[in-house]
Amino acid sequence: MLIAVVIFVVVVTALGSALLRQRKRLDALLAEFGGGPRVRSDHITSLRTAMQRRQKEYDVVVKQRDLRLVAIGATPLGIQLYDSEGAVVVSNDAAQQLLGSSNVALRERLAELVRHTRETGIEMDERVLTSRPVERLTRVVVRPVGDREGVVVALVDATKSRRIEKVRRDFIANASHELKTPIGALRVLVEALVATSDVATKGALVERLSSEVVRMSALVDDVLDLARVESDVDEEAFERTNIADVVQTSLAGLASESDRYGVKIDVGGIDPDLWVCGDHRQLESAITNLMDNAVKYTAAASRRVPVDVQAQLVGDAVVITVSDAGIGIPERDIDRIFERFYRVDRARSRETGGTGLGLAIVRHVALNHGGTVSVESVAGEGSTFRIALKQEGPCSAS
Ligand code: ADP
Repeated sequence: MLIAVVIFVVVVTALGSALLRQRKRLDALLAEFGGGPRVRSDHITSLRTAMQRRQKEYDVVVKQRDLRLVAIGATPLGIQLYDSEGAVVVSNDAAQQLLGSSNVALRERLAELVRHTRETGIEMDERVLTSRPVERLTRVVVRPVGDREGVVVALVDATKSRRIEKVRRDFIANASHELKTPIGALRVLVEALVATSDVATKGALVERLSSEVVRMSALVDDVLDLARVESDVDEEAFERTNIADVVQTSLAGLASESDRYGVKIDVGGIDPDLWVCGDHRQLESAITNLMDNAVKYTAAASRRVPVDVQAQLVGDAVVITVSDAGIGIPERDIDRIFERFYRVDRARSRETGGTGLGLAIVRHVALNHGGTVSVESVAGEGSTFRIALKQEGPCSAS
């Protein structure tokens, strides 16, 4: 028992002096690094505050970085970021799509451009045209970041704007070409008129002059009409429109033409209670073009069979059909007649005063109204054009 007590006392004393030694060492250490125990607790508090502040700043930075990454991911622009070693560190969805696995040519060109910018520090801006898997034009901008710290790439799909640009250029070229013919004719006729003193010749020349002027003004009217229907749809002009009213307006406008060609227009098959949400003026232009063609091309077949216009509700679509027993359209041309300036027979079109724009206008009007236009035709027998429009339109509630 005594031995146990002695051992206990010895152990406790040894432990105590060891702890004391440890404490003295710690105090000495603390004294060395800034004072006694009171200073130490202040120090720890300010250290903690500083660390908390740092943590907050760090959280903000991380948040901003995450937000930037989300924004980069969501942008429709292809964005890539390369580090100083040329490794991709960021590549958003749009970039992945544009560089898709089959677009090898674009990936190869991009790699060259990135290498060039990394080596020279010079910004590159290039349009890369690739043909596979489909034809595509991509604008590639490669810009150095910082002092050769990396490279940022922006990829823009310019295919659509290139196509629109081409369509515009073609249209201007075609329209100018179409205008050249009547303008040339006018010049020749005016020169002949000035040169002659014969009254009968003068009369004939004036008559021809007047028909060239009519042709030119028809062309200008159609060009303007097409430009109007091709521009952005003006929802403001959309209103609840009665189809029978539109057909009547078109009919009135074609009365003299119908008389001149001796081809009547029969509108008996029009349901008077058909309504669509649309632009009255555009719809009138489309229906007038179809009826005008039907009259012209019936007369061209030397027939006098009336043109038949119908408008009925088929399911939930308002279907307007214009049928004629005219010259019809050869099968090989059917797919092309809705193109601008396309005519099956140019010489005949000149005789009938056609501009080649009528059906392009019809197609656009149908599209603007969320509808379609189709044709069935047998060469030598006649044609039926059909416009289908939604009965319920965006302004049906008004
Ligand atoms: P155009 O002013 O020459 O009639 P369109 O764009 O209206 O131009 O029509 C394009 C071409 O489609 C016409 O040149 C003609 O060859 C053909 N076409 C259009 N409608 C008819 C029709 N009802 N019957 C026969 N051919 C037609």
